[in-house]
Amino acid sequence: MAIYARPIARLVEELAKLPGIGPKTAQRLAFHIISGTRENAESLAEAITQAKEKTIYCSICSNLTEADPCSVCTSVGRDRSMICVVEEPKDVISLERTRFKGLYHVLHGAISPIDGIGPGDIRVKELLERLKDDTVQEVILGTDPNVEGEATAMYLARLLKPLGLKVTRMAHGMPVGSDLEYVDEVTLAKALEGRREV
Ligand SMILES: [Zn+2]
Repeated sequence: MAIYARPIARLVEELAKLPGIGPKTAQRLAFHIISGTRENAESLAEAITQAKEKTIYCSICSNLTEADPCSVCTSVGRDRSMICVVEEPKDVISLERTRFKGLYHVLHGAISPIDGIGPGDIRVKELLERLKDDTVQEVILGTDPNVEGEATAMYLARLLKPLGLKVTRMAHGMPVGSDLEYVDEVTLAKALEGRREV
């Protein structure tokens, strides 16, 4: 166990809490920050605080945004007849790299009985609310191709089909068990194109 000065130990500890950052990387980042200028360190700290403070959830699609409603929901160039349902805001970033022109709905999670996460714990109610008028014709289930994502897609399909909507699931050229975030945009665009009715 390395022995750091207390402020460094604290920084290493905080950095190590980030996803994908192990103790070694946390240490490298901490020393990088400390050896840099005070200005750079302050700019990093400020960026973190500002990102947290100025980002809110869109009241329509639940995506992260600076202004509510978000730029996708307010855009006149989007196809309002289709909504792609995803698990996390980062999935929207991935899909925006494809040529998808519909709207999104971010669930903020997936159904996972093992972890005690049911439909009431993700933003399903908000999705149903959006489907009340007849604008939306198709709901594309873009949840991850893993156990939780499939369970969520199945649940939503059962819930939405009786509403008379076209419900589709993105095709699986995608690696099973993976995360939308790690799928390249060509594969993702193909998965979207090859979606099937469920
Ligand atoms: Zn929005």
